[in-house]
Amino acid sequence: MHRWSLFVLLLATSVGQADQGEYRNQPVEVVFDQPGQRVWLLERDFELDDLWTDRARLYVNPLDLEELRGAGLRVIELEEPHPTAFDPVLAGDLVRFPYVQPKYHDYPELKAALESLAEAHPAMTILSSLGKTEEGRDMLALRLGRPSSEPRPEVLLIGGLHGNEVVGNELLLGLARYLLATYATEARSRKVLDQLSIVIVPSANPDGTARRWRSNGKGIDLNRDFLDPRRTRPREAFRALESRNIARLAEKRRFLLSAVFHGGEIVVNYPWDHRPNTTSLRPEDAEVLRRLSLRYAGRNEDMAHNPRFPGGVTSGYEWYQIRGGLQDYFYGWYGSLNLTIEVSRTKWPVPAELPRHWELNCEALLDFLEQARVGVALQVLGAEGTPLEATVRLPGTRSPLQTAPHDGAYFRLLPGGWHHATIEAPGYRTTLVPLFSTSHPGHILQIVSPKPVE
Ligand SMILES: [Zn+2]
Repeated sequence: MHRWSLFVLLLATSVGQADQGEYRNQPVEVVFDQPGQRVWLLERDFELDDLWTDRARLYVNPLDLEELRGAGLRVIELEEPHPTAFDPVLAGDLVRFPYVQPKYHDYPELKAALESLAEAHPAMTILSSLGKTEEGRDMLALRLGRPSSEPRPEVLLIGGLHGNEVVGNELLLGLARYLLATYATEARSRKVLDQLSIVIVPSANPDGTARRWRSNGKGIDLNRDFLDPRRTRPREAFRALESRNIARLAEKRRFLLSAVFHGGEIVVNYPWDHRPNTTSLRPEDAEVLRRLSLRYAGRNEDMAHNPRFPGGVTSGYEWYQIRGGLQDYFYGWYGSLNLTIEVSRTKWPVPAELPRHWELNCEALLDFLEQARVGVALQVLGAEGTPLEATVRLPGTRSPLQTAPHDGAYFRLLPGGWHHATIEAPGYRTTLVPLFSTSHPGHILQIVSPKPVE
């Protein structure tokens, strides 16, 4: 397992102080008028935000601009859609739109909204900080779910990794409000909160959102700051405190499902981002990732009918390659099935559009959570009934997965029916176990106790 060396890297990485000249916060469109220009651009390490056959959208700094123009490319400087002020919410809107109002929350308002949810539902929530941002804000995380002694599948939902893509932030706050408010009246909310542990990080880059720009407070694009499974650019990973805070969370927990919300398109994007899927994805995961993506997009009318992406889904690489993205990090290092969900064409639309975005996404979000209750549920216990950190190996797959260290649990979305796996733990005999995977929400927990080596 590469986890130890990954951790050493996390500790050893120093905080690179980006100098003002390096900030890549100017959006531009580059038009390919001449043959070879597209290839020229893609061979270089520019910060791509979208790609078509005849043009690309990038975030650049003055040096990038010089390089692009020097190479004879036609560059159009874009204005960021001017973000609307964080207006106060009107009393009437709270009644009409109880979960997502036509309003953006700035950092103090988001903090207050999460605190009031946690205060109103103390048995069902834990509000914590993943750590500080570069500018000293807390990365707030709200854990939702009824406490239980049985292991629970864990789901992680992250918003606002790009500071100027903020619809997801409001959707995630709305989702927390919805689940807690309807726990007593809606069977679906009750099942989700009774049977899952959900961590919501509505604003993973609050410094960027406060500055109303893409990167963090130090000018680092967080979605290029994670370590690729192939370590293509190790020295460029984990320069930002924010991505190191997220990495610590990934190390501590085993998220069966995770999603990160972006804006700029309406599409669900699944791993890989850094390389083609054809040879390198576990075949059973390829099927499940695509199915999860199609389920989400199919429940969002705008996504399902996006003419640019059939079915509203794409693999990251097929769209355009990025390295250092969060989804490849979660999937590649921890096996967490991670989707990048682009929820709005305009990155920061006027607040009046927010309630419609909730309408478009609430069913898809609920369904996504329910999918975490499908598949295999296993708990590996040692001699004294203590949780074992074990390796679970499925035949035909190269990369084994680990049980969660705190409860010895292993959840996995696999095609419905019987599978088998070998379980390995130091000091215990390697054990072959049959695993039953459900095809509908509702796990059957299997407990396995391997025999100690004598
Ligand atoms: Zn983004």
